[in-house]
Amino acid sequence: MTSKEKAMEAVSTLLKYIEGDDSREGLIDTPKRVVESFDEIFSGYKMEPSQVLSSTFNGEGYDGIVLLRNIEFHSTCEHHLQPFKGRAHVAYIPTERIVGISKLARIVDLHARRLQNQERITNSIADDLESNLDPLGAAVIIEAAHGCMQCRGVKKQNSIMTTSAMRGVFFDKSEARSELMQLIRSPEL
Ligand SMILES: [Zn+2]
Repeated sequence: MTSKEKAMEAVSTLLKYIEGDDSREGLIDTPKRVVESFDEIFSGYKMEPSQVLSSTFNGEGYDGIVLLRNIEFHSTCEHHLQPFKGRAHVAYIPTERIVGISKLARIVDLHARRLQNQERITNSIADDLESNLDPLGAAVIIEAAHGCMQCRGVKKQNSIMTTSAMRGVFFDKSEARSELMQLIRSPEL
C-alpha cells in the first residue's frame, strides 16, 4: 500500500514531466487535489458486492422483469487512466427475493469507481446479480464514450461502445431478450 504522501510525490513528478517545473501558483496544491480526487473516483475498492446486494425483500410472487435503466456512471480506463462515462441498464427476473432498487445503481458505481475496462464492468455486475440474488435471468447493457478514444489516438468524438452480458433466461430465450430491449427503448417519462 502506497502512502498518500508518496502518491502526491508521484503527481509532482508527473507535473515536472509535463511542464518541467511544478512550482507556479496554480500547481502548488495540484498533487493534493489529484490524490484526493482519486480517493473519490476509486472509492469502489472500499465496497463489496455482497454487502451492496444484501438487503433483499420478499418478492411476493413477482416474476416479471425488474429493470433499472439509464444509470449514469463515470469510470476510469485502466490502460490510459482516461475517464469513460455513459449509462448502464441493469435487469433481473427474481425468483423469491427482490433487491432494493437503489442497490442496482450502487452496484454499477462500485465497479465503475475502480480501474476498469467496460467489458469487465458489464460482466462483473451480471456475476454479482447471479451470485447474490439467484435470479431466473440477469442482464446488463452498458453504453459509454471513452476519453482515450476522444482526446488521443484515433480521436473519435462521437463513438459509443456498447457491451452486454445476458445470463439465464435472457441468454436462453429470445422472447425474454426482446421484452427487455423493448422496455429499455420505451419512451422516457
Ligand atoms: Zn483507454
